[in-house]
Amino acid sequence: MNDNLNLIWHEHLVQKRDRIQKYGQKPCLVWFTGLSGSGKSTMANALEKELFEKGYITYMLDGDNVRQGLSKDLAFSDEHREENIRRIGEVARLFVDSGCIVITAFISPFKKERELARSLLENNEFIEVYMTTPIEICEERDPKGLYEKARRGEIKSFTGIDSAYEQPETPSISLDTGKVSVEEGLELLIKYLRENGYIHDK
Ligand code: ADP
Repeated sequence: MNDNLNLIWHEHLVQKRDRIQKYGQKPCLVWFTGLSGSGKSTMANALEKELFEKGYITYMLDGDNVRQGLSKDLAFSDEHREENIRRIGEVARLFVDSGCIVITAFISPFKKERELARSLLENNEFIEVYMTTPIEICEERDPKGLYEKARRGEIKSFTGIDSAYEQPETPSISLDTGKVSVEEGLELLIKYLRENGYIHDK
């Protein structure tokens, strides 16, 4: 018998709606997706800093940090990548339940994995930000030298080179950082959050 059948989800005396009221923000998961070098981390960091400085409660889940801790037993096979995203999604879900605006920046090239993360959250809690920066620009930037390594064959299954990136069909926001500056991109993100009731001017 599955032991999980004996588990129940505990309702807490302090609930999400209480936190929403107290914190003056609607918790959500802002999920950046796009090629390596498309500007996910840069924009995610800029967004977190701006929100934090305005007094919002935020937390950024960083891919490398997750890989060094929670997911350190996982490799990069398709199966393990999916498990990694599932764990990130579950952790994000708890943070969202705690009232936080959670920000993540993972390439997350497969529709299935992004939909898995979305499915763990309630309606309107998952905000998909698709970085549409063309691969030529990403490769020219190559901030971590990964494209060069991939071109030399030193990294296998590198997204955009020898592994596919499945484009989001209906992202909440699209950003081409080849065309917009960090400041302009940030302005668009803040505008979206404000217009959709996630934040209110404090
Ligand atoms: P990713 O997280 O998608 O791999 P990074 O944010 O690590 O991408 O790298 C993007 C690189 O592009 C950084 O070196 C950043 O300084 C540079 N860059 C130049 N213009 C922009 C812009 N408008 N928005 C974001 N990043 C930019």
